[in-house]
Amino acid sequence: MKNIIEPFKIKSVEPITFTTRDERLNFMKEAYYNPFLLRADSVIIDLLTDSGTSAMSSKQWAGIMDGDEAYAGSKSFFRFEEAVKKITGFKYIIPTHQGRAAEKILFTNVGGPGKYIPNNTHFDTTRANVEFSGAVAEDFLNEIGKHPEIRADFKGNMDVPALENFIKEKGVENIPLVMITVTNNSGGGQPVSMQNIREVKAVCKKYGLPLFIDACRFAENSYFIKKREPGYQDKSVLEIAQEMFSYADGATMSAKKDALVNIGGFLALNDDNLAMNCRNLLIVTEGFSTYGGLAGRDLEAIAQGLEEIVDENYLQYRIRSVEYLGERLISAGIPIIEPPGGHAIYLDAKRFLPNIPPEQFPGQSIVAALYIEGGIRAVEIGSVMFGRYDEHGKYVAPPMELVRLAIPRRVYTQSHIDYVIEVMIEVFKKRNEMPGYKITYEAPMLRHFTAKFEPLF
Ligand SMILES: *Cc1c(COP(=O)(O)O)cnc(C)c1O
Repeated sequence: MKNIIEPFKIKSVEPITFTTRDERLNFMKEAYYNPFLLRADSVIIDLLTDSGTSAMSSKQWAGIMDGDEAYAGSKSFFRFEEAVKKITGFKYIIPTHQGRAAEKILFTNVGGPGKYIPNNTHFDTTRANVEFSGAVAEDFLNEIGKHPEIRADFKGNMDVPALENFIKEKGVENIPLVMITVTNNSGGGQPVSMQNIREVKAVCKKYGLPLFIDACRFAENSYFIKKREPGYQDKSVLEIAQEMFSYADGATMSAKKDALVNIGGFLALNDDNLAMNCRNLLIVTEGFSTYGGLAGRDLEAIAQGLEEIVDENYLQYRIRSVEYLGERLISAGIPIIEPPGGHAIYLDAKRFLPNIPPEQFPGQSIVAALYIEGGIRAVEIGSVMFGRYDEHGKYVAPPMELVRLAIPRRVYTQSHIDYVIEVMIEVFKKRNEMPGYKITYEAPMLRHFTAKFEPLF
């Protein structure tokens, strides 16, 4: 097989600011060892998130100039609406400023106390919006998805029998909708199979429940189906995406992921009444229904991004470049969640630093070392993010201690990734010298964003 090359040429560049190890040691100290408190221009390779960090194409930038800023009925809205309809087939397309705004509008209408929302795994903003409405968010991830060391094709699948039992137990009248997240963000973007979506749909149909897709990475999921699921090799990614959405009654989307833009999102659905209520709430909180908190130019860039994201040369490069990083780390003996997902590599900090206990934040130790060693910014997903204390003040660790390296779309080339691999191997060699950390300040909620740390030497 020939080398898979970046399927684009570079027309505009943004310089990277280089720093020395000593400077980074200082910056890290000044940021209290929390990567969220670093200035972005002191980072060499930024793998904090794949959200809103995509490089836009020349056609998207042309669309930015071409955006129609009319308050109502902008031509950019109609182009956006048509692009979303072409992929999803839904009747009502409601623009929002990002994914969580779509969630807020949806769950304000269908959630509330006494209601339950099942999902394969709720993304954190989705869970927060369900819970903020007063409803309960329940995850039904298939057993295989819970084992980081097992390789399987579709580790994002929903546990369908568990879903059905839950519906029977709680009663259909208390479940306004079932949601499925593609790819499953938690765990690095593990895909969901078409077979699984069909099975979930069959259960929804049996109980008369609507199915909604959290569609942030619908194109990456469709590409995995094409590569891994029998019967889809000869279908286009667009056809696969269309089939996926054909089983659903609606979708929420953060355009900051698979629409290749820096801001935007939408809610799409078929139900007349619910669409009317959602639009009314949109007008109160986001803006009129033909712009929804975005500028006309943003809608234009989303429409163009949705055309580009289903390009299979792009998706081949995208999925392969994440897999390449995973393969190299595995062959250096560095423990990661297997197989690599669509948008990120997760390091298994428990196996990386077996001598640092969860309450001394092994993931945070790796994050600090990656920055100091090579200016790479990653994020801890473990005890810092989810650790808590029980009623006796005893520390309760989450099941996994992870470090996420999320790959921005179309931003870094293979040599950037090779550099990340080099730095990672260097850090892994020095793992016995790496300290645990303690927290010196934490906020009462979502502490990972603002917490301050100190190394325990
Ligand atoms: C990012 C994301 C969201 C929320 O979108 P925002 O644009 O960040 O508000 C919801 N679900 C999933 C799976 C996501 O990855």
